[in-house]
Amino acid sequence: MQKMIIEARVNEYAMRDENPHVPWSPSEIADAAARCRDAGASILHYHSRAADGSPLQTFELNAEIIRRVRAKCDILILPTLGFFSNDEDPASRIDCMLQLAKDPQTKPDLAPIDTGSVNLETFDAATGAFAHADRVYENRTDSLVHYAKSLRQAGVKPKLVCWSIGFVRRAAAMMEAGLIDEPGYFLLNMTDGPYITGHPGTPKGLQALVDFLPAGRDCVWTANIVGGSLVDLAPYVAGNGGNIAPGIGDYAYGEIGAPPNHEVVRRIADIARAHGRDIATPDDVRRRLKLTPPA
Ligand code: ZN
Repeated sequence: MQKMIIEARVNEYAMRDENPHVPWSPSEIADAAARCRDAGASILHYHSRAADGSPLQTFELNAEIIRRVRAKCDILILPTLGFFSNDEDPASRIDCMLQLAKDPQTKPDLAPIDTGSVNLETFDAATGAFAHADRVYENRTDSLVHYAKSLRQAGVKPKLVCWSIGFVRRAAAMMEAGLIDEPGYFLLNMTDGPYITGHPGTPKGLQALVDFLPAGRDCVWTANIVGGSLVDLAPYVAGNGGNIAPGIGDYAYGEIGAPPNHEVVRRIADIARAHGRDIATPDDVRRRLKLTPPA
């Protein structure tokens, strides 16, 4: 089987109440990146954050993070477009990535495109209460086409983030329309705990997404769970040829002591090896995903 690609999702917009190790500052993110690289991660996914942890998506902050990470290690860089915090003008959400891509030193290797829109509420099953009931993460199709065209022009590989089968079908349609080059790189983004908008983070929830990847096209898929443990799902992912994207940004891993990111990555790399999967290096990923060579 192919080597397993591990993407470390180090912070998202997580605060530190459930896991104190969530990195916020550029130096904390760079330290986490280097440790995750040592533990087996080949891709870093991070969100730029202000000093108090709030979302802060600026060119300057992203440039500083990327420079610091690259000074420490060779991990591939996958920022965010800003998620729901950068939602006011969907078309301009990509502008920060395009600006970073102009300088080889700050150019991201990959950038995410969420191929559909979702409600981002949370649900407390114990009390029956919804929170953030007005929150929608909007990704209009005209915006997606704009992202795909501008990322191609900038030489940045899109990662197709899919929260349900409709997202997978839209991503497949974008490949069909010639907007996305092969291999299609899919993040199958399940949700658990208080997040109810994606497929459950179980073998069934995952396999339903995998089953609808476009047949006859070269696709690489990675499993992720917002609000749930990938440690439990890792044996299934490893045994079925998938890749995996763990990190304390999506889930605090309280049941294993709320560890730092690299400890979760190491644990998952060990599970993968035990299932016969070697771990991909950044160079392996460059070749597999046909990324633009570094300048
Ligand atoms: Zn993210």
